[in-house]
Amino acid sequence: MQPIPYGKQQITEEDIQAVVQTLQSDFLTQGPKIEEFENKFAQYIGCVYAVAVANGTAALHLCAMALGVNEQSNVITTPITFVASANCVRYCGGTVWFADIDPATGLMDIDKVRDLLKSKPKGFFTGIIPVDFAGLPVHLEAFRQLADEYNLWILEDACHAPGGYFLDNQGQKQLCGNGKYADLAIFSFHPVKHIATGEGGMITTNNKELYDKLVLLRTHGITKKPELLPKDKGGWYYEMQELGYNYRIPDILTALGISQLNRADAGLQKRREIAARYDEVFGQDENIIILNPAAYSDDKSETGHAYHLYVILVKNRRGLYDYLRQHHIYAQVHYIPVHTMPYYQQLGWQQGDFPAAENYYEQCLSLPMYPTLSKEEQEFVIEKVLAFVNEQ
Ligand SMILES: *Cc1c(COP(=O)(O)O)cnc(C)c1O
Repeated sequence: MQPIPYGKQQITEEDIQAVVQTLQSDFLTQGPKIEEFENKFAQYIGCVYAVAVANGTAALHLCAMALGVNEQSNVITTPITFVASANCVRYCGGTVWFADIDPATGLMDIDKVRDLLKSKPKGFFTGIIPVDFAGLPVHLEAFRQLADEYNLWILEDACHAPGGYFLDNQGQKQLCGNGKYADLAIFSFHPVKHIATGEGGMITTNNKELYDKLVLLRTHGITKKPELLPKDKGGWYYEMQELGYNYRIPDILTALGISQLNRADAGLQKRREIAARYDEVFGQDENIIILNPAAYSDDKSETGHAYHLYVILVKNRRGLYDYLRQHHIYAQVHYIPVHTMPYYQQLGWQQGDFPAAENYYEQCLSLPMYPTLSKEEQEFVIEKVLAFVNEQ
């Protein structure tokens, strides 16, 4: 059997044709495919504005800039995320604070955030970066209420959850990144994510002022829009109005993104089916804890979880990881808690600061989860996991 990774992109003949057509067009970058991708993505997510950028990390950096993060800023995020969620604050000179996770969900614990907010004078903290970890959507309605009490912005890191949703207090579906509760949200199109463009990212928002800033900052802080410039300066005239970056994404990649987006719902459905099968088997094994077993409807389709990852917790995680590798199953660990990284330890954080995150990290393993994982491959993974955990 072929090696089985934890995540994998799918490239179809249509994807290839979409890229080839763009290669043969007039634009490799800064052409019409970027806006088309933005419009289609905004429609998919249900937000007003979308800004396509070079990658998810660039998206985070631009958001931190647009939100005005600076040396005085104190921003709260979760220790269980990819380091980029925290790093964007540091790019702008701000201070990162962490709030521990809820062990039942792996998500940042809102009660821990509230405790942290209460521990300092009002006005000390400036923003929160919640992460829809593994694809499980954060309950942003509750976070918005808390943020409003303390006058904070919310930047949702939705890299794991395009198409995911939570139910609000009225029972309405609220899609990740739809801009209803968070000021800004970001997505990544790295190959392990739901929609793959190689490198790529997207920012979504319903806020026109933030949108305008992001568009400016994405291209060096330069504008050519006549309404933002003095009159009669000549057709060549442009102005650099802020210090921005080149964080653009090329048309070639957005053409791939558009083609991938057409299959996003089918991919999500596949992920949920794979999760339902894992849940069914592992739910009956006393040696395995499933992080967030879904509450499915009868047809096993109704869950807001977007399943970027399928995470189980086991006692001998190191042993299981090594055993699966011997069988060419490349499970992964998500994540090493950010506050324990040497860089963040230099800033004063220590092992022991966030016990729930550290305890989670000791046991977690992300099993293969991607739309093209075959039934046979999944059964092979299940067989090996059960063989190991029940032999201990
Ligand atoms: C992938 C990812 C990022 C960064 O995205 P890139 O496109 O790789 O820069 C940020 N946050 C989370 C939670 C991610 O999973």
